[in-house]
Amino acid sequence: MAQLDTRSKLAILADAAKYDASCASSGTAKRNSVGGKGVGSTEGSGICHSYAPDGRCISLLKILLTNSCIFDCHYCINRKSSNVRRARFTVDEVVRLTLSFYKRNYIEGLFLSSGIIGSSDYTMEAMVRVAKTLRLDHDFRGYIHLKTIPDAAPELLDQAAMYADRLSINVELPTVEGLGKLAPDKDAGRIRLAMGGLKTGIAENKEARRKFRSAPKFAPAGQSTQMIVGADAADDSAVVASASSLYGKFGLRRVYYSAFSPIPDASAVLPLVQPPLMREHRLYQADWLMRFYGFNVGEVQDATDAGMLPLDIDPKTAWALKHRASFPVDVNKAPREMLLRVPGLGVKSVNAILRARRQRRLELADIGRLTRGIEKLRPFLIAADWRPVALAERADLRPRLVKAERSQLELFG
Ligand code: SF4
Repeated sequence: MAQLDTRSKLAILADAAKYDASCASSGTAKRNSVGGKGVGSTEGSGICHSYAPDGRCISLLKILLTNSCIFDCHYCINRKSSNVRRARFTVDEVVRLTLSFYKRNYIEGLFLSSGIIGSSDYTMEAMVRVAKTLRLDHDFRGYIHLKTIPDAAPELLDQAAMYADRLSINVELPTVEGLGKLAPDKDAGRIRLAMGGLKTGIAENKEARRKFRSAPKFAPAGQSTQMIVGADAADDSAVVASASSLYGKFGLRRVYYSAFSPIPDASAVLPLVQPPLMREHRLYQADWLMRFYGFNVGEVQDATDAGMLPLDIDPKTAWALKHRASFPVDVNKAPREMLLRVPGLGVKSVNAILRARRQRRLELADIGRLTRGIEKLRPFLIAADWRPVALAERADLRPRLVKAERSQLELFG
């Protein structure tokens, strides 16, 4: 490998990291440098996210330790057989870059991933050293997210969890078959074993900290994973089933969905075109339905057409259109669970409605003031001064809702 200066390495290794979407930094412990102690903060104005035009988070220094790799995952630009220019940071370089970027206010923390050099353990050990040096030698209190290396020893993952806020282990593809085909060196069973180990470690640490406040923290922002969507044949129904099972089995904080982007010098087994970015967006909406709106995976799958979430309408509206008999819902009487199923009503709006209706009967205009727009809601709600035409009789409902969603997107676009 030719000698490169740090700036050239940064150009290569930051670019190589852009394909990883799982870098949000929410949900970690509060730390700061108030009183001149340490460097960095995870709270208040310390963490603020910004997004690149393609929607990816760039508020963290997001880099790879190296883009060389002994594995040959077809969808990855850094795979062994890829023809890209290679680079590799030393541990010390990553530490220095993180500190200097942080002090210049460019970043709020570090997201570090890597290709595999030598062996999984060798690479993971170097990543742990980055986090450990930042924490112990420089008292760095900013956010650290480490992407774990497949097949790394459990002891190394435990060490990583002592210094990082969040660890992620990518399942990569929604199905075991997809993983076998596109990432032949990876093993779905071992990936899940590592996730299970982390889940146990996090639970044991919570228990220990409940008893002893001084017990050291262990991945306080939990674990997350990423799935590439559109690189294999898995439909949305399979994607949400896989996500639901991961949330249930491993207590993940987040599953990130990354629409497959064709890479230069792509393998012949990959599709030539990327899926629409809207597919990724619809999957995130479906994910929220399962995590915050009380939908189970079967109900989300029910919103699909032939296994795919519609692109022109959000999954909650798609579900409501298939269950017209459940609507309209009386905004002055309905339980919270049912209000959460009304298209266009978010969790905050529902909570505001529940508070407001204790004082008086709500009219349609009151709901309009508590939400982003009333157009989408009208057909699904009964208010003190409003009762819609029975939904079953409205043949033109879907096109009207598509139009309402489009104008809302334009308004907030
Ligand atoms: S192990 Fe990671 S870096 Fe290596 S080829 Fe697979 S996805 Fe790419």
